[in-house]
Amino acid sequence: MRKFSDPLDLASYRKSLKNSVGFVPTMGALHEGHISLIKESIKNSDNTIVSIFVNPTQFLQGEDLDAYPKKIEADLKICELAGVDAVFLPNIDDMYERDELKITAPNIKGFTLEGFNRPGHFDGVLQIVLKLFGITKPTKAYFGKKDAQQLFLIQNMVKHLFLDIEIISCEIIRQSDGLALSSRNIYLSEDERVKALLLSTALKLATKMVISQELDSKKIKNKMQEVLKDTDIEYIEIVDREFNLLQKVEIKNTIILVATFVGETRLIDNIWI
Ligand code: AMP
Repeated sequence: MRKFSDPLDLASYRKSLKNSVGFVPTMGALHEGHISLIKESIKNSDNTIVSIFVNPTQFLQGEDLDAYPKKIEADLKICELAGVDAVFLPNIDDMYERDELKITAPNIKGFTLEGFNRPGHFDGVLQIVLKLFGITKPTKAYFGKKDAQQLFLIQNMVKHLFLDIEIISCEIIRQSDGLALSSRNIYLSEDERVKALLLSTALKLATKMVISQELDSKKIKNKMQEVLKDTDIEYIEIVDREFNLLQKVEIKNTIILVATFVGETRLIDNIWI
């Protein structure tokens, strides 16, 4: 497995690759969720590149940029065992100039839900993903449905900038009790982990309501709110796959999303219906 920190070195390695390239961008502290993306890429592409970069421009003031978990040695082992061809571990200074162009997420869909609670977050996400695409020039790039709005905005960026990259969306990987895997789960104390389960419990309840023909968004959101009442809810929302708010669930075109704080830890989860 090759390791690169210089973007230009990785770009020239990329040029030497004749066949398809799958790309998996991550912020490291890899878990089964990341591994599922990596495996999918290895299955479907001749070469797989994984990036590990805690991108400062997508963190807001006061967020956990400095505390973000780092496990570089374990991450490299995971990538090697999975059969990754190259890992990209850039330094911040090699990725950003002091004065450079900025990417702004779409005004509406980039500034609702996650974007409303974390204004500017998606500007940073799109900026780094576009840079990483420029370096790795992937045939396919893999993203998790766990970050549903991010996935949507990246699909849109690819479309609007006419990038020749296929975005592959991957299912949310959960622990056996339902907790969606996240690098941030390690912040949770034992008691908080129990509370964190309420996110998937609320989403399961919503699914049950839909199965029993309750499609009214307000009623579903109210029930979810009851389940999550012991957490600090940021939003519970029901949108279509284009991230328009829905009054009524549309089967096969709906995402139910939740963001909540459990203690100091901000957790997100969602379900596609
Ligand atoms: P991150 O390292 O948190 O930036 O995540 C890197 C990629 O892994 C993103 O595309 C995430 O959506 C995806 N991801 C994170 N957690 C999960 C999960 N539990 N299941 C599937 N994909 C995930």
